[in-house]
Amino acid sequence: MSGNELSYINEAFETNWVAPLGPNVNGFESDLQSYLNDNRHVAALASGTSALHLSLIMLGVGIGDEVICQSKTFSASANPIVYQGASPVFVDSERDTWNMCPEQLEIAIKDRISKGIKPKAIIAVHLYGMPYKVDQINEVALKYSIPVIEDSAESLGSLYKGKNCGTLGDFSILSFNGNKIITTSGGGALVTKSKELKQKAVFLATQARDDAPHYLHSQIGYNYRMSNIVAGIGRGQMTILDSHVAKRRSNHQFYFDAFKHNNRITFLQEPEGYFSNRWLSCILLDSKETRENLRLALEKENIESRPLWKPMHQQPVFEKYPSYLNGVSDELFEKGLCLPSGSNLTDNELERIVLAINAYFVTC
Ligand SMILES: *Cc1c(COP(=O)(O)O)cnc(C)c1O
Repeated sequence: MSGNELSYINEAFETNWVAPLGPNVNGFESDLQSYLNDNRHVAALASGTSALHLSLIMLGVGIGDEVICQSKTFSASANPIVYQGASPVFVDSERDTWNMCPEQLEIAIKDRISKGIKPKAIIAVHLYGMPYKVDQINEVALKYSIPVIEDSAESLGSLYKGKNCGTLGDFSILSFNGNKIITTSGGGALVTKSKELKQKAVFLATQARDDAPHYLHSQIGYNYRMSNIVAGIGRGQMTILDSHVAKRRSNHQFYFDAFKHNNRITFLQEPEGYFSNRWLSCILLDSKETRENLRLALEKENIESRPLWKPMHQQPVFEKYPSYLNGVSDELFEKGLCLPSGSNLTDNELERIVLAINAYFVTC
């Protein structure tokens, strides 16, 4: 926390704006809009998941439809497809960014079309803050006229060729969950290309109440709006977003400098034109055994580390859906480890983590 959050929360209490609307909601939205730039419109919502759900609804995704989704991601990227009674189709990653592979994407689209179902949308994810190959993904999407939902939950503050992640899809989503680069405890946002689309999202997120003196509904609505209290936390957090990005990047640089001569550890580099917020610092080990033994060795030292996201095509709940694979996300899951990455890690803690990892490699 920056310390500024409490003054916005106090203001909400003093003015009795304790509701899912109010000055903090409007203020947080306009802060995000100025940060993102590019004429985008922001609707503050209860979560990133609800933002994904609303974008699918607004794209008309329904029962029997198919939606393409990056396989290597957190389950929240894919769950809303199933909420809509549609089926996810999973696409594997490429090695340069660990995100959706443009070649596999085109293979998947062609194959789905040949089977008689054209996918209704593509959900691409900037994993761990590293932008996906935006130009290449958009080129394929455009070729087949399929809209892209940009899952930017992990990548606020990242840039692709100078443009902000969160402004690169037909719809984009952000998350302010407790673990993200900035947090409102829980929360999210939908980023749209027009004011009308934002208004439509806010309408759906506030129970789809029609304009009438009584309660009138001609559509199914949702209770997905952000609370004015929570938005107050968001306004305070916007003041430290850039410093959090700088800190996460310096964590990553610290690990990189410490291990660059260790030939059993490799890092994901930023391709030319990519700027990652380095939400999490991840490394790849030389084998699954090394990854797991290192994780356990760190655990013994009371240092938590975690394997990278287990791909959706390997999840029991999603196994039955079609997937287009090249082995990359499976390999990343086997060899990858997320190191402690918090914005509040101290130099001493970073030193201790590096010492523990070095100690592991001395004995193994
Ligand atoms: C966190 C996350 C979400 C979901 O956001 P919530 O605000 O937690 O609902 C979606 N996609 C990815 C890639 C995430 O990391």
